[in-house]
Amino acid sequence: MKFVGIIVAAGKGLRAGGELPKQWRPLLGKPVVRWSAEALQASGAAALIIVIAPGDRDRVEAILGNMSNLTIVEGGAERVDSVRAGLEAARAFDPQAVLIHDAARPFLNQGHVDALLAALIGHDGALPALPVSDTLKAAQGVEVLRTVDRAGLWRAQTPQAFRFDALMAAYAAWPADETPTDDCSVMERAGGRVAITPGDPLLMKLTYAEDFIMAEQLGGAARITRVGQGVDSHRFGEGDHVWLCGVKIPHTHCLIGHSDADAGLHALTDAILGAIGEGDIGDHFPPTDPKWKGAASDAFLIHVLDLVKAKGGLLINVDVTLICESPKVKPHRLAMRERLAELTGLPLDRISVKATTMEEMGFTGRREGLASQAIVAIETPA
Ligand code: MG
Repeated sequence: MKFVGIIVAAGKGLRAGGELPKQWRPLLGKPVVRWSAEALQASGAAALIIVIAPGDRDRVEAILGNMSNLTIVEGGAERVDSVRAGLEAARAFDPQAVLIHDAARPFLNQGHVDALLAALIGHDGALPALPVSDTLKAAQGVEVLRTVDRAGLWRAQTPQAFRFDALMAAYAAWPADETPTDDCSVMERAGGRVAITPGDPLLMKLTYAEDFIMAEQLGGAARITRVGQGVDSHRFGEGDHVWLCGVKIPHTHCLIGHSDADAGLHALTDAILGAIGEGDIGDHFPPTDPKWKGAASDAFLIHVLDLVKAKGGLLINVDVTLICESPKVKPHRLAMRERLAELTGLPLDRISVKATTMEEMGFTGRREGLASQAIVAIETPA
């Protein structure tokens, strides 16, 4: 389903303390708003609209300017005005659905988005919500009046998802002198059917300074480290150079393969696929497909790094071992590490390229070909 993500980030949000509205403050090393923006983009949003307060444009461009498909829109005095501005901007993309999200709920992931989009089949709107588990009290001041029945009560979260046309119609019918507390209430008033999808404590809204501390703990705890390994080998043939770890090295032979036969990049690509449970290099780039004939193996690595990103993952480090009698790897090691750093975006000290011989034993020892191994660590949501 083609959807547009709208992030409402026009609030002042100063209850969290400090001078800077909470959506622009760093959380686990990244501005709060960027977490949601990246998650919506990785979840397949056709476009991303961010609604900001007038005057915040420079700030948002510094934080999100390098993201593709991003539209920056200025909002109004109330949240409802900002949502209306975002919806108007969404028209240009002709979406079937729209997801409206609070900037201050950073830990959105693909699972949340998939559940919402699935719920739109048969509904006009959908929202993640958690059942109320605390006992509820009605009080006057600090004086308890009574206990309120919590059965059937839910805590609404965002993103809230809607069929685009239905929400536009619902907002058009909403009275100008009333302020909805969320977007689903606009759909409910218009008589639309709204579904609940599983809420998640991770979708917590950051409001107070303590929320940032809790979010840092939750965000850290909700990620796991995965390890993957890859192995590859290619046979030597007639030629005058080989490609290893993205570097062209003059040699007495070439390596034979369907692509450029870069065994270093192939092992690394397989290791990444292994860590994220996405099959192997042959599944993604079949040697029978003419598209990959003579291909630079950089493309394989870039593709699987995109898969990591789509899972909300982060490559932590890379360790490649090349096994051959020749060519001599050592003179090219730094260039290989620098090339891998360029391709992965990792700092140099998280990239290792090592080399060993097999003491003239076996097929690498007989110089029939060379072999490679790679190990990676990747951090992903649990
Ligand atoms: Mg290979």
